[in-house]
Amino acid sequence: MEKLILIKYGELTTKKGNRKTFIRSLKNRIEKVLKKYPIQIRDLYDRMYIEVDNQYLNQCIEALQKVFGIFGIVICYKVNTNIDDIQEKTLDILKDRSFKTFKVETKRSYKQFPISSMELSRKLGGHILKNFNVKVDVHQPDLVFHVEIHKDYTYLYENEIRGLGGYPVGIQGKGLLMLSGGIDSPVAGYLALKRGVDLECLYFESPPHTSVEAKNKVLELARIIDEYSGNIKVHIVPFTKLQEAIYKNVPDHYVITIMRRMMYRIAEEVCKRHHLKVMINGESIGQVASQTLSSMQVINSVTNLPVIRPVACMDKLEIIAIAKKIGTYETSILPYEDCCTIFLPKHPVINPDLESCLTFEKNFDYQSLIEDCIEHIETIKNLERETYSDLL
Ligand code: ATP
Ligand code: MG
Repeated sequence: MEKLILIKYGELTTKKGNRKTFIRSLKNRIEKVLKKYPIQIRDLYDRMYIEVDNQYLNQCIEALQKVFGIFGIVICYKVNTNIDDIQEKTLDILKDRSFKTFKVETKRSYKQFPISSMELSRKLGGHILKNFNVKVDVHQPDLVFHVEIHKDYTYLYENEIRGLGGYPVGIQGKGLLMLSGGIDSPVAGYLALKRGVDLECLYFESPPHTSVEAKNKVLELARIIDEYSGNIKVHIVPFTKLQEAIYKNVPDHYVITIMRRMMYRIAEEVCKRHHLKVMINGESIGQVASQTLSSMQVINSVTNLPVIRPVACMDKLEIIAIAKKIGTYETSILPYEDCCTIFLPKHPVINPDLESCLTFEKNFDYQSLIEDCIEHIETIKNLERETYSDLL
């Protein structure tokens, strides 16, 4: 029996005008992830049908499970629009299923079909009852059998695979993800992508204090979250000189605070140059000294750009659960040092004050060091694994 894929959209509450954009973006994204396969997409107001050569059906379903904006994925059986065919094929489909209770739901887009939806559900239900030892339960059935009547064909289906939900990537524009090799920032990036924000990534490296393995780990993390986007590039900032200047000129307990203020300044400039609307990072309230509310306030005050912290209110275990689900966890826990973890002071300040920051920052010409960092950014557009995997 020939099959096709039915896609149900997420976020049905989107306003009318936005729906067109939503559908267009989703369709573009689907065409992109399925570009290897010969497909035909028909998009309607509340659903999409994808016709595909059935030998590729499983690969397509797998790829669609990584597309934001999809609420449900359904494999439909395509039969002729006549009652005999519908009844016969229904038995064919259900003969291998194990269920004790069921109900039939019919949707009739082809209004000329001579039987009403209610009547068809009843008739087909009777046919199922006659052929299997099962009962009808309209409230909590083991199986819901769907019939969609269209002019040329009727689609039959029973279970639905849950999609990722969210918005199609890019529909909200682009942000800059501060991506480290830790657990939190890739998860933050994934959650931003889920809300339709496409990403560019920014990574601060401090060679020779940080290794090439640490950088490759970040590229690998970017590649994994790029499976949900397809557009991600990574900007790598050579941070060594600025970081060394901070350690030389700032008292120990303030180095992390000042370092993060510098990171934010650089991130803001990168956003301006690449027309990125927001900064995104993996800060989580109270996780470390630089992520107390007072620290966030003092660090955040160097920029007027919105800073989104998708994991701010999550516990570490919740963040880890997402990292495992999206496949970044195993890479994140590889033991390469990040620039934030080298020379970590013993007692970083927990409640920094702005006045002290400003005083310490007067000790050195950080502006020219920031400019130097920005001038020497290396941008990596090709996240193919072969370009760095031998070093992992
Ligand atoms: P962990 O999962 O171990 O907490 P982390 O990546 O969250 O790792 P933090 O020290 O908590 O590391 O840093 C907070 C946030 O600052 C990160 O989530 C990330 O967004 C940003 N950040 C830290 N270090 C870097 C770096 N080297 N390059 C880019 N962004 C960084
Ligand atoms: Mg963290």
